[in-house]
Amino acid sequence: MAHLPERPKEYVCENCHTIVAGVVHGEPPDHTYESPSECAACGATEFVELDRYPSMPGQ
Ligand SMILES: [Zn+2]
Repeated sequence: MAHLPERPKEYVCENCHTIVAGVVHGEPPDHTYESPSECAACGATEFVELDRYPSMPGQ
């Protein structure tokens, strides 16, 4: 099986529902993604992982 191409983890702002890319921490292959410190659109600091966002259809 080929290694899947990595895509950044994405987060959804709980306030305005903007999708933002996670912030990389560490070096490959051990790096992880964390939610941004604040939303660029509204300044909120609460994010949900896009994979866990219940109201995103088609994922
Ligand atoms: Zn926001």
